[in-house]
Amino acid sequence: MRDYSIKNRQEGLTEQELTILRVDPFPEDKGDNDITVFRDVFVNRRTSARCAICRGWICKGQRVRKRVEKFDGMVKSFLICPICCATAYRFATEDSTEAEDAWFDRYELGIMRAN
Ligand SMILES: [Zn+2]
Repeated sequence: MRDYSIKNRQEGLTEQELTILRVDPFPEDKGDNDITVFRDVFVNRRTSARCAICRGWICKGQRVRKRVEKFDGMVKSFLICPICCATAYRFATEDSTEAEDAWFDRYELGIMRAN
């Protein structure tokens, strides 16, 4: 069973950000394994980093989704860039194949960039 009992600091988040947090960014990876989400919030990034989905660069100062989870006994932290977040928002709010394709294209881009 997945554990989604997340203690988030959600004050100050926009409606759009709260909607994005409802999209599971890694539905495929986990299968039936137990995961615990410790934190799933939006933060202003202080240093550059890579997006966990599209592998693109996140610049200092950008507002990004930060998710911390425990999976297979390991605690990992993921950042998701503004473009992937905007695409996730569209995926969550628009009932269209275009929105769905756009969301899955972000993962494809990440696979391409990783190789
Ligand atoms: Zn991204």
